[in-house]
Amino acid sequence: MKKINILGIPFVDTTKKEFVSHVLTLATSNKEPISIVTANPEIVMLTKENAQYEQYVQRSTYVVADGIGVVIGSKILGTPLRERIPGYELVHAFMKNADVNKNRFFFYGGKPGVAEAAAKKAIALYPHINIVGTADGYGDRDAVATQAASLKPDFIFIATGAPKQEEWIANHRHQFEHCVLMGVGGSLDVLSG
Ligand code: UDP
Repeated sequence: MKKINILGIPFVDTTKKEFVSHVLTLATSNKEPISIVTANPEIVMLTKENAQYEQYVQRSTYVVADGIGVVIGSKILGTPLRERIPGYELVHAFMKNADVNKNRFFFYGGKPGVAEAAAKKAIALYPHINIVGTADGYGDRDAVATQAASLKPDFIFIATGAPKQEEWIANHRHQFEHCVLMGVGGSLDVLSG
């Protein structure tokens, strides 16, 4: 996938449609875990303030432009990105296009009860999806990784906010095989509501 460097961050220059089908293909065929940062302007700013966080973002498999602010910024800097790819839309697109026999989902984050409520809502919207587990975002983070890894998910949505979610992905991605790990901020709150 073509990448464009914006303020030190390698954004993928693609469309939402292309990106979704690319990741869904990798989710079943890849050997390595795949990490996705959905970078809004707040995340871009955080990389400039926190060098460790910047490394987590730079070392992720893909960074997408979550929001029109990043796309406008890319144009002003003379390196325009094709379109915005909002994290919340990716959450829906991965579930909508999931293969019932192959794609297992795990929801992690939010206050107690939020991930479960989001899972119920997701099943109501996409009855074919297979959600293998949930965890709230305030317990022992290593324990959640062990629990999630034992369930062998293909997608984990991590909704513990930046920088925690990207830090968790960096520390725990090696425990997963071909899994897609994506930081989704407040998306489980929105989905559950
Ligand atoms: N959150 C969490 N654990 C924490 C801190 C935050 O699960 O230790 C959750 C919080 O409940 C909310 C989500 O992270 O559902 C997003 O939080 P925030 O609004 O701070 O992040 P942003 O959406 O701005 O990335």
